[in-house]
Amino acid sequence: MSTTKPVHAAQSRFPVVDGVLHVGGVPLTRLAQRVGRTPFYAYDRKVVSDRVRQVRDCLPDGVRLHYSIKANPMPALVQHMAALVDGLDVASGGELKTALDAGMAPECISFAGPGKSDAELAQAVAAGVHVHAESERELHALARIGQELGIAPLVVIRVNPDFELKGSGMRMGGGAKQFGIDAEEMPRVLALAAGLGLDVLGFHIFSGSQSLKAEAIVEAQAQTFALAERLAQSCRHPVRVLNIGGGFGIPYFPGEAPLDLAPIAAHLRQALPHVQAALPQAEVSIELGRYLVGEAGVYVARVVDRKVSRGQVFLVTDGGLHHHLAASGNFGQVIRKNYPVAIGNRMGGGQAEVVSVVGPLCTPLDLLADKMELPRANVGDLVVVFQSGAYGISASPAGFLSHPNAVEVLV
Ligand SMILES: *Cc1c(COP(=O)(O)O)cnc(C)c1O
Repeated sequence: MSTTKPVHAAQSRFPVVDGVLHVGGVPLTRLAQRVGRTPFYAYDRKVVSDRVRQVRDCLPDGVRLHYSIKANPMPALVQHMAALVDGLDVASGGELKTALDAGMAPECISFAGPGKSDAELAQAVAAGVHVHAESERELHALARIGQELGIAPLVVIRVNPDFELKGSGMRMGGGAKQFGIDAEEMPRVLALAAGLGLDVLGFHIFSGSQSLKAEAIVEAQAQTFALAERLAQSCRHPVRVLNIGGGFGIPYFPGEAPLDLAPIAAHLRQALPHVQAALPQAEVSIELGRYLVGEAGVYVARVVDRKVSRGQVFLVTDGGLHHHLAASGNFGQVIRKNYPVAIGNRMGGGQAEVVSVVGPLCTPLDLLADKMELPRANVGDLVVVFQSGAYGISASPAGFLSHPNAVEVLV
């Protein structure tokens, strides 16, 4: 074998020059020198900007684009994103601070998530952001906090829909869930909110995540619009906010094709006039995390040992599941599959071999690539994990085994 196949479509976002992967326009070898140590995450701001532009080009005017910070809360990245999108969605007091620090206007920030503490609710009301109430307890707390602070809370109700985004990687709606208030309870809950003197601005209906099927997303969006119109009938005030969720996925594994945005765009274009007729004051928004940043990031670790055990080659790196739980297959995946992985300084091909790339932790779960064909690599080479811009470092157990944390750079 003399050449390596391109490992993944994701690789095409990062040019290869003289056999070296470039991230942010910089050869990976030089980037590693600049960062000063491995492992690190690098996020390419041009790839992020291009992706946001691509989504915006296909969304009809009148659909606002929000970024869900939890996909990647790195402050510099959030700041870059704040200039590109219409709003930021946060899920904790910490993320709220990141969003405000990024300079996003408070009325363009929404705070969802179950179990918000009174302190978080007060922080949100005081800041003037939209608070997405996930329970009756939160409605009571918001009314009380609003009175204490003398500020009318900006309340949106997160609804647990009576349907789900089919085939999504993570089910977040439909059935019994800890998220939102069940759709069938809404008439009663809206009356309760009115009784508490709360002005409910509208609804947040999120039905799922990581879907690669445009038809499933279209179907969920159609059901979301229908549900919103039904809920509006029990609403005392006009609906001014309608967050229809997101759920756009990215391909990770062999055989997965990128999401086709065209059918989603076509459906929104066709559905929006009806929604605007039924809910004339509603600002419709979608919220995307992974789709906007996932493909823009790489995780880079250095080979520190090369071993052969009973005929199987292991590349041991200084990075692993403590920085990148998802790539190890332990972030909610049912069946472990390899993320796209390459040797960033040996992209030109050369002799290939089948290797397993592992981390330094004392557990067989610490696996970045299982029996993958890669160019023959040595100690000092740079292992790259693509599709690492979302749910990476912040979704990993960095404290496990007390290794140094990974560095993050926006390039
Ligand atoms: C996590 C989350 C998102 C973002 O999901 P992605 O799959 O990263 O796009 C959006 N909305 C809500 C309510 C979430 O909890």
